[in-house]
Amino acid sequence: MTGPPVLPPATLGMLGGGQLGRYFVMAAASMGYRTIVLDPDPSSPAGVVADEHLVHDYDDPGAIRRLSFDCAVVTTEFENPPASTLDRLADAVAVAPPPAAVRIAQDRIAEKAFLTDNGFPVGPYVPLVDADRAGLEAVAEVGAIVKTARLGYDGKGQRTVVGTSDALAAWAELGGVACVVEQRLALDSELSVIVARTRGGDVESWPVAENRHVDGVLDLTLVPASVSPTLTDRATGLAMAIADALDYVGVLAVELFVVGDELLVNELAPRPHNSGHWTLDACVTSQFEQQVRAVCGVGLGATTMTAPAIAMVNLLGDLWDVGEPDWSIVLDDPAAKLHLYGMREARPRRKMGHLTVTSDVATAAVARALELRAAVVR
Ligand code: ADP
Ligand code: MG
Repeated sequence: MTGPPVLPPATLGMLGGGQLGRYFVMAAASMGYRTIVLDPDPSSPAGVVADEHLVHDYDDPGAIRRLSFDCAVVTTEFENPPASTLDRLADAVAVAPPPAAVRIAQDRIAEKAFLTDNGFPVGPYVPLVDADRAGLEAVAEVGAIVKTARLGYDGKGQRTVVGTSDALAAWAELGGVACVVEQRLALDSELSVIVARTRGGDVESWPVAENRHVDGVLDLTLVPASVSPTLTDRATGLAMAIADALDYVGVLAVELFVVGDELLVNELAPRPHNSGHWTLDACVTSQFEQQVRAVCGVGLGATTMTAPAIAMVNLLGDLWDVGEPDWSIVLDDPAAKLHLYGMREARPRRKMGHLTVTSDVATAAVARALELRAAVVR
Protein backbone atom coordinates (compact mmCIF):
# COMPACT_ATOMS: atom_id res chain seq x y z
CA MET A 1 0.00 0.00 0.00
CA THR A 2 1.53 3.28 -1.10
CA GLY A 3 0.35 6.78 -1.81
CA PRO A 4 -0.38 10.01 0.04
CA PRO A 5 -2.20 10.07 3.39
CA VAL A 6 -5.96 9.58 3.25
CA LEU A 7 -7.52 12.70 4.73
CA PRO A 8 -11.10 13.59 5.72
CA PRO A 9 -13.67 13.61 4.19
CA ALA A 10 -12.49 10.49 2.31
CA THR A 11 -14.59 7.34 2.52
CA LEU A 12 -13.27 4.35 4.49
CA GLY A 13 -14.51 0.80 3.93
CA MET A 14 -14.99 -1.73 6.71
CA LEU A 15 -15.38 -5.48 6.24
CA GLY A 16 -17.55 -6.73 9.10
CA GLY A 17 -20.24 -5.02 11.11
CA GLY A 18 -19.58 -6.17 14.68
CA GLN A 19 -18.79 -4.05 17.73
CA LEU A 20 -15.15 -3.56 16.67
CA GLY A 21 -16.36 -2.11 13.38
CA ARG A 22 -18.90 0.02 15.22
CA TYR A 23 -16.22 1.80 17.26
CA PHE A 24 -14.05 2.23 14.14
CA VAL A 25 -17.00 3.84 12.33
CA MET A 26 -17.70 6.15 15.27
CA ALA A 27 -14.03 7.19 15.53
CA ALA A 28 -13.85 7.78 11.77
CA ALA A 29 -17.05 9.82 11.81
CA SER A 30 -15.80 12.04 14.60
CA MET A 31 -12.69 12.78 12.53
CA GLY A 32 -14.80 13.69 9.47
CA TYR A 33 -14.44 10.55 7.36
CA ARG A 34 -17.35 8.81 5.62
CA THR A 35 -17.73 5.07 6.15
CA ILE A 36 -19.20 2.12 4.28
CA VAL A 37 -19.67 -1.18 6.11
CA LEU A 38 -20.08 -4.54 4.35
CA ASP A 39 -21.95 -7.10 6.48
CA PRO A 40 -24.78 -9.43 5.46
CA ASP A 41 -26.63 -8.81 8.75
CA PRO A 42 -29.06 -5.88 8.28
CA SER A 43 -28.95 -5.06 12.01
CA SER A 44 -25.17 -5.34 12.49
CA PRO A 45 -23.83 -3.00 15.21
CA ALA A 46 -21.50 -1.16 12.81
CA GLY A 47 -23.87 -1.15 9.85
CA VAL A 48 -26.51 0.83 11.72
CA VAL A 49 -24.07 3.65 12.57
CA ALA A 50 -22.16 3.81 9.26
CA ASP A 51 -22.93 6.32 6.50
CA GLU A 52 -23.74 3.38 4.29
CA HIS A 53 -24.32 -0.31 4.97
CA LEU A 54 -23.95 -2.82 2.17
CA VAL A 55 -26.10 -5.75 3.26
CA HIS A 56 -24.38 -8.42 1.18
CA ASP A 57 -22.17 -11.46 1.61
CA TYR A 58 -18.44 -10.86 1.89
CA ASP A 59 -17.83 -12.30 -1.57
CA ASP A 60 -20.58 -10.36 -3.35
CA PRO A 61 -19.00 -8.97 -6.57
CA GLY A 62 -21.23 -5.88 -6.63
CA ALA A 63 -20.37 -5.00 -3.02
CA ILE A 64 -16.66 -5.50 -3.70
CA ARG A 65 -16.93 -3.20 -6.72
CA ARG A 66 -18.70 -0.54 -4.65
CA LEU A 67 -15.99 -0.62 -1.97
CA SER A 68 -13.29 -0.49 -4.66
CA PHE A 69 -14.80 2.55 -6.38
CA ASP A 70 -15.98 4.55 -3.39
CA CYS A 71 -13.35 3.97 -0.71
CA ALA A 72 -9.87 5.42 -0.32
CA VAL A 73 -8.89 2.50 1.90
CA VAL A 74 -10.60 -0.69 3.09
CA THR A 75 -9.93 -2.40 6.42
CA THR A 76 -11.43 -5.22 8.47
CA GLU A 77 -12.77 -5.79 11.96
CA PHE A 78 -12.52 -9.60 11.92
CA GLU A 79 -9.98 -12.12 10.72
CA ASN A 80 -12.27 -14.07 8.48
CA PRO A 81 -13.20 -12.05 5.41
CA PRO A 82 -12.58 -14.41 2.47
CA ALA A 83 -8.97 -14.15 1.28
CA SER A 84 -10.30 -13.89 -2.29
CA THR A 85 -12.28 -10.75 -1.32
CA LEU A 86 -9.18 -9.14 0.18
CA ASP A 87 -7.18 -9.96 -2.96
CA ARG A 88 -9.84 -8.58 -5.30
CA LEU A 89 -10.10 -5.40 -3.24
CA ALA A 90 -6.32 -5.05 -3.11
CA ASP A 91 -6.19 -5.08 -6.92
CA ALA A 92 -8.28 -1.91 -6.99
CA VAL A 93 -7.97 -0.02 -3.70
CA ALA A 94 -5.63 0.29 -0.71
CA VAL A 95 -6.28 -2.54 1.78
CA ALA A 96 -4.90 -2.52 5.33
CA PRO A 97 -3.88 -4.74 7.04
CA PRO A 98 -2.12 -6.45 4.12
CA PRO A 99 -4.10 -9.49 2.89
CA ALA A 100 -1.05 -11.70 3.50
CA ALA A 101 -1.08 -10.80 7.21
CA VAL A 102 -4.83 -11.46 7.50
CA ARG A 103 -4.34 -14.84 5.78
CA ILE A 104 -1.79 -15.81 8.42
CA ALA A 105 -4.03 -14.75 11.31
CA GLN A 106 -7.01 -16.64 9.81
CA ASP A 107 -5.39 -19.99 10.20
CA ARG A 108 -3.78 -21.27 13.39
CA ILE A 109 -1.47 -23.59 11.42
CA ALA A 110 -0.20 -20.77 9.19
CA GLU A 111 0.04 -18.48 12.21
CA LYS A 112 2.16 -20.87 14.26
CA ALA A 113 4.34 -21.65 11.24
CA PHE A 114 4.90 -17.92 10.68
CA LEU A 115 5.75 -17.40 14.36
CA THR A 116 8.16 -20.31 14.65
CA ASP A 117 9.79 -19.58 11.26
CA ASN A 118 10.51 -16.06 12.49
CA GLY A 119 11.86 -17.17 15.86
CA PHE A 120 8.89 -16.05 17.99
CA PRO A 121 8.14 -18.34 20.96
CA VAL A 122 5.01 -20.54 20.93
CA GLY A 123 4.00 -23.45 23.18
CA PRO A 124 4.36 -27.09 22.11
CA TYR A 125 1.85 -27.98 19.38
CA VAL A 126 1.30 -30.20 16.36
CA PRO A 127 -0.95 -29.66 13.34
CA LEU A 128 -3.62 -32.35 12.95
CA VAL A 129 -4.70 -32.34 9.35
CA ASP A 130 -4.79 -35.88 8.02
CA ALA A 131 -3.54 -39.37 8.77
CA ASP A 132 -0.13 -38.00 9.73
CA ARG A 133 -0.06 -38.32 13.54
CA ALA A 134 3.63 -37.50 13.96
CA GLY A 135 4.31 -35.85 17.29
CA LEU A 136 0.72 -36.10 18.51
CA GLU A 137 1.44 -38.39 21.41
CA ALA A 138 4.13 -36.17 22.91
CA VAL A 139 1.84 -33.13 22.92
CA ALA A 140 -1.41 -34.86 23.90
CA GLU A 141 -0.30 -37.25 26.63
CA VAL A 142 0.16 -34.50 29.24
CA GLY A 143 -3.16 -32.84 28.40
CA ALA A 144 -3.94 -30.76 25.35
CA ILE A 145 -6.45 -28.56 23.58
CA VAL A 146 -7.59 -29.45 20.08
CA LYS A 147 -8.48 -26.24 18.21
CA THR A 148 -9.89 -25.90 14.71
CA ALA A 149 -7.32 -24.10 12.56
CA ARG A 150 -9.95 -21.74 11.16
CA LEU A 151 -13.05 -19.85 12.31
CA GLY A 152 -12.70 -20.40 16.08
CA TYR A 153 -13.38 -17.55 18.48
CA ASP A 154 -14.36 -17.07 22.12
CA GLY A 155 -13.29 -20.65 22.86
CA LYS A 156 -15.51 -22.07 20.11
CA GLY A 157 -14.10 -24.95 18.07
CA GLN A 158 -11.95 -26.19 20.96
CA ARG A 159 -11.86 -29.42 22.97
CA THR A 160 -9.75 -30.23 26.02
CA VAL A 161 -8.28 -33.74 25.83
CA VAL A 162 -5.84 -36.10 27.50
CA GLY A 163 -4.01 -38.68 25.36
CA THR A 164 -3.82 -39.52 21.69
CA SER A 165 -7.08 -41.42 21.33
CA ASP A 166 -8.98 -38.68 23.15
CA ALA A 167 -7.39 -36.11 20.83
CA LEU A 168 -8.37 -38.10 17.74
CA ALA A 169 -11.93 -38.47 19.01
CA ALA A 170 -12.15 -34.71 19.60
CA TRP A 171 -10.75 -34.10 16.13
CA ALA A 172 -13.46 -36.33 14.62
CA GLU A 173 -16.08 -34.53 16.72
CA LEU A 174 -14.83 -31.22 15.30
CA GLY A 175 -15.58 -32.61 11.84
CA GLY A 176 -12.09 -33.85 10.96
CA VAL A 177 -11.20 -30.35 9.73
CA ALA A 178 -7.66 -29.01 9.97
CA CYS A 179 -6.77 -28.50 13.64
CA VAL A 180 -3.87 -27.75 15.90
CA VAL A 181 -3.26 -29.74 19.06
CA GLU A 182 -1.68 -27.56 21.71
CA GLN A 183 -0.22 -28.76 24.95
CA ARG A 184 -2.38 -27.42 27.78
CA LEU A 185 -0.12 -25.04 29.68
CA ALA A 186 -0.27 -24.08 33.35
CA LEU A 187 -0.69 -20.36 32.77
CA ASP A 188 0.53 -17.91 35.38
CA SER A 189 -1.27 -15.14 33.57
CA GLU A 190 -2.39 -13.95 30.16
CA LEU A 191 -1.30 -10.68 28.60
CA SER A 192 -2.12 -8.88 25.39
CA VAL A 193 -0.21 -6.22 23.56
CA ILE A 194 -1.94 -4.10 20.97
CA VAL A 195 0.22 -2.25 18.49
CA ALA A 196 -0.53 0.10 15.64
CA ARG A 197 1.81 0.37 12.66
CA THR A 198 1.75 2.66 9.64
CA ARG A 199 3.02 1.78 6.19
CA GLY A 200 6.00 4.00 6.90
CA GLY A 201 6.94 1.70 9.79
CA ASP A 202 5.91 3.99 12.66
CA VAL A 203 4.76 1.85 15.59
CA GLU A 204 2.91 2.69 18.80
CA SER A 205 1.68 0.31 21.47
CA TRP A 206 -0.59 0.70 24.46
CA PRO A 207 0.32 -0.30 27.99
CA VAL A 208 0.21 -4.11 28.27
CA ALA A 209 -3.14 -5.52 29.40
CA GLU A 210 -3.68 -8.49 31.72
CA ASN A 211 -6.59 -10.73 30.76
CA ARG A 212 -8.68 -13.30 32.59
CA HIS A 213 -10.81 -15.75 30.64
CA VAL A 214 -13.77 -17.82 31.78
CA ASP A 215 -14.60 -20.89 29.66
CA GLY A 216 -12.40 -19.58 26.84
CA VAL A 217 -14.15 -16.17 26.71
CA LEU A 218 -12.45 -12.96 27.85
CA ASP A 219 -14.05 -11.93 31.13
CA LEU A 220 -11.83 -9.22 32.57
CA THR A 221 -8.99 -6.95 31.46
CA LEU A 222 -6.91 -4.83 33.80
CA VAL A 223 -4.28 -2.20 33.12
CA PRO A 224 -1.56 -1.85 34.25
CA ALA A 225 -0.90 -5.59 34.24
CA SER A 226 0.15 -7.05 37.61
CA VAL A 227 3.43 -8.46 36.26
CA SER A 228 6.97 -7.10 36.33
CA PRO A 229 7.96 -4.22 34.05
CA THR A 230 10.65 -6.50 32.61
CA LEU A 231 7.94 -8.87 31.42
CA THR A 232 5.70 -6.13 29.98
CA ASP A 233 8.72 -4.63 28.18
CA ARG A 234 9.55 -8.00 26.67
CA ALA A 235 5.91 -8.50 25.67
CA THR A 236 5.84 -5.12 23.95
CA GLY A 237 9.10 -5.82 22.15
CA LEU A 238 7.74 -9.14 20.91
CA ALA A 239 4.52 -7.58 19.59
CA MET A 240 6.39 -4.81 17.78
CA ALA A 241 8.78 -7.32 16.22
CA ILE A 242 5.81 -9.41 15.04
CA ALA A 243 4.18 -6.32 13.47
CA ASP A 244 7.46 -5.57 11.67
CA ALA A 245 7.85 -9.16 10.47
CA LEU A 246 4.33 -9.02 9.00
CA ASP A 247 5.04 -5.62 7.39
CA TYR A 248 1.83 -4.78 9.14
CA VAL A 249 -0.41 -1.75 8.57
CA GLY A 250 -3.25 -1.15 11.01
CA VAL A 251 -3.94 -2.38 14.53
CA LEU A 252 -2.60 -5.79 15.59
CA ALA A 253 -3.34 -7.60 18.86
CA VAL A 254 -0.91 -10.20 20.19
CA GLU A 255 -2.25 -12.57 22.87
CA LEU A 256 0.48 -13.94 25.14
CA PHE A 257 0.72 -16.68 27.74
CA VAL A 258 2.96 -16.21 30.78
CA VAL A 259 4.40 -19.48 32.09
CA GLY A 260 7.04 -18.86 34.76
CA ASP A 261 9.28 -16.23 33.25
CA GLU A 262 8.55 -17.46 29.75
CA LEU A 263 6.37 -15.53 27.29
CA LEU A 264 4.62 -17.57 24.60
CA VAL A 265 2.54 -16.18 21.75
CA ASN A 266 -0.98 -17.61 21.85
CA GLU A 267 -2.55 -15.98 18.81
CA LEU A 268 -2.70 -12.86 16.65
CA ALA A 269 -5.74 -10.74 15.81
CA PRO A 270 -5.35 -8.51 12.74
CA ARG A 271 -7.67 -5.84 14.16
CA PRO A 272 -8.53 -4.05 17.40
CA HIS A 273 -9.17 -6.42 20.29
CA ASN A 274 -11.63 -6.86 23.14
CA SER A 275 -8.74 -6.45 25.59
CA GLY A 276 -8.15 -2.97 24.15
CA HIS A 277 -11.65 -1.62 24.73
CA TRP A 278 -10.37 0.16 27.82
CA THR A 279 -8.45 2.54 25.53
CA LEU A 280 -11.80 4.23 24.74
CA ASP A 281 -12.07 5.36 28.35
CA ALA A 282 -8.52 5.74 29.69
CA CYS A 283 -6.22 6.63 26.82
CA VAL A 284 -5.43 9.74 24.80
CA THR A 285 -6.02 7.73 21.61
CA SER A 286 -8.28 4.67 21.46
CA GLN A 287 -7.37 1.56 19.49
CA PHE A 288 -10.19 2.45 17.08
CA GLU A 289 -9.06 6.00 16.38
CA GLN A 290 -5.57 4.57 15.93
CA GLN A 291 -6.88 2.04 13.41
CA VAL A 292 -8.31 4.94 11.40
CA ARG A 293 -4.99 6.81 11.64
CA ALA A 294 -2.84 3.79 10.79
CA VAL A 295 -4.83 2.64 7.75
CA CYS A 296 -5.11 6.23 6.47
CA GLY A 297 -1.36 6.74 6.79
CA VAL A 298 -1.64 9.86 8.94
CA GLY A 299 0.27 10.36 12.19
CA LEU A 300 -0.36 7.97 15.09
CA GLY A 301 -1.90 9.42 18.25
CA ALA A 302 -0.44 9.28 21.75
CA THR A 303 -1.16 6.08 23.68
CA THR A 304 -0.63 7.60 27.11
CA MET A 305 -3.15 6.65 29.81
CA THR A 306 -5.49 9.31 31.16
CA ALA A 307 -6.11 7.45 34.44
CA PRO A 308 -3.68 5.53 36.69
CA ALA A 309 -5.58 2.24 36.28
CA ILE A 310 -8.64 0.76 34.61
CA ALA A 311 -10.57 -2.51 34.57
CA MET A 312 -12.96 -3.77 31.91
CA VAL A 313 -15.51 -6.56 32.31
CA ASN A 314 -17.48 -8.04 29.45
CA LEU A 315 -21.26 -8.17 29.55
CA LEU A 316 -22.35 -11.48 28.04
CA GLY A 317 -25.86 -12.38 26.92
CA ASP A 318 -26.32 -14.54 30.03
CA LEU A 319 -26.84 -11.31 32.01
CA TRP A 320 -30.11 -10.82 30.07
CA ASP A 321 -31.58 -14.15 31.28
CA VAL A 322 -34.32 -12.42 33.23
CA GLY A 323 -34.69 -9.37 31.01
CA GLU A 324 -32.77 -6.14 30.38
CA PRO A 325 -30.33 -5.55 33.25
CA ASP A 326 -30.80 -2.42 35.36
CA TRP A 327 -28.01 -0.12 34.17
CA SER A 328 -28.73 2.72 36.58
CA ILE A 329 -26.07 1.72 39.10
CA VAL A 330 -23.38 1.78 36.39
CA LEU A 331 -24.59 5.07 34.95
CA ASP A 332 -24.70 6.62 38.42
CA ASP A 333 -21.01 5.85 39.13
CA PRO A 334 -18.84 8.71 37.83
CA ALA A 335 -15.80 6.40 37.52
CA ALA A 336 -17.70 3.86 35.39
CA LYS A 337 -18.54 3.79 31.68
CA LEU A 338 -21.21 1.62 30.10
CA HIS A 339 -20.86 0.33 26.54
CA LEU A 340 -23.64 -1.59 24.81
CA TYR A 341 -23.25 -2.70 21.21
CA GLY A 342 -26.88 -2.51 20.14
CA MET A 343 -27.27 -6.25 19.55
CA ARG A 344 -30.84 -7.18 18.68
CA GLU A 345 -30.82 -10.47 20.52
CA ALA A 346 -29.12 -11.61 23.75
CA ARG A 347 -27.70 -15.11 23.44
CA PRO A 348 -25.73 -16.99 26.12
CA ARG A 349 -21.98 -16.21 25.89
CA ARG A 350 -22.58 -13.53 23.25
CA LYS A 351 -20.69 -10.29 23.88
CA MET A 352 -23.40 -7.67 24.28
CA GLY A 353 -21.30 -4.90 25.77
CA HIS A 354 -18.72 -4.11 28.43
CA LEU A 355 -18.18 -1.73 31.28
CA THR A 356 -15.04 -0.05 32.56
CA VAL A 357 -14.03 1.51 35.88
CA THR A 358 -11.05 3.80 36.39
CA SER A 359 -9.28 4.06 39.72
CA ASP A 360 -5.95 4.85 41.36
CA VAL A 361 -4.99 1.18 41.44
CA ALA A 362 -5.97 -1.75 39.25
CA THR A 363 -7.13 -3.96 42.13
CA ALA A 364 -9.72 -1.36 43.18
CA ALA A 365 -10.89 -0.91 39.59
CA VAL A 366 -11.30 -4.68 39.23
CA ALA A 367 -13.26 -5.01 42.47
CA ARG A 368 -15.64 -2.18 41.53
CA ALA A 369 -16.15 -3.42 37.94
CA LEU A 370 -17.09 -6.88 39.19
CA GLU A 371 -19.35 -5.38 41.83
CA LEU A 372 -21.17 -3.26 39.25
CA ARG A 373 -21.65 -6.17 36.89
CA ALA A 374 -23.11 -8.30 39.66
CA ALA A 375 -25.43 -5.48 40.69
CA VAL A 376 -27.11 -4.90 37.31
CA VAL A 377 -28.86 -8.27 37.31
CA ARG A 378 -32.47 -7.76 38.36
P1 ADP B 1 -9.97 -17.91 20.83
O1 ADP B 1 -9.65 -17.74 19.40
O2 ADP B 1 -11.29 -18.50 21.09
O3 ADP B 1 -9.66 -16.65 21.64
P2 ADP B 1 -7.63 -19.01 22.17
O4 ADP B 1 -6.69 -19.94 21.50
O5 ADP B 1 -7.13 -17.64 22.44
O6 ADP B 1 -8.95 -19.03 21.32
O7 ADP B 1 -8.10 -19.69 23.53
C1 ADP B 1 -8.99 -19.05 24.41
C2 ADP B 1 -8.48 -19.14 25.84
O8 ADP B 1 -8.36 -20.53 26.23
C3 ADP B 1 -7.10 -18.57 26.05
O9 ADP B 1 -7.13 -17.17 26.20
C4 ADP B 1 -6.67 -19.31 27.32
O10 ADP B 1 -7.31 -18.78 28.46
C5 ADP B 1 -7.22 -20.70 27.06
N1 ADP B 1 -6.18 -21.50 26.35
C6 ADP B 1 -6.06 -21.60 25.01
N2 ADP B 1 -5.02 -22.37 24.67
C7 ADP B 1 -4.45 -22.78 25.82
C8 ADP B 1 -3.31 -23.61 26.14
N3 ADP B 1 -2.56 -24.18 25.18
N4 ADP B 1 -3.03 -23.83 27.44
C9 ADP B 1 -3.79 -23.28 28.42
N5 ADP B 1 -4.87 -22.48 28.19
C10 ADP B 1 -5.20 -22.23 26.91
MG1 MG C 1 -7.83 -15.77 21.99
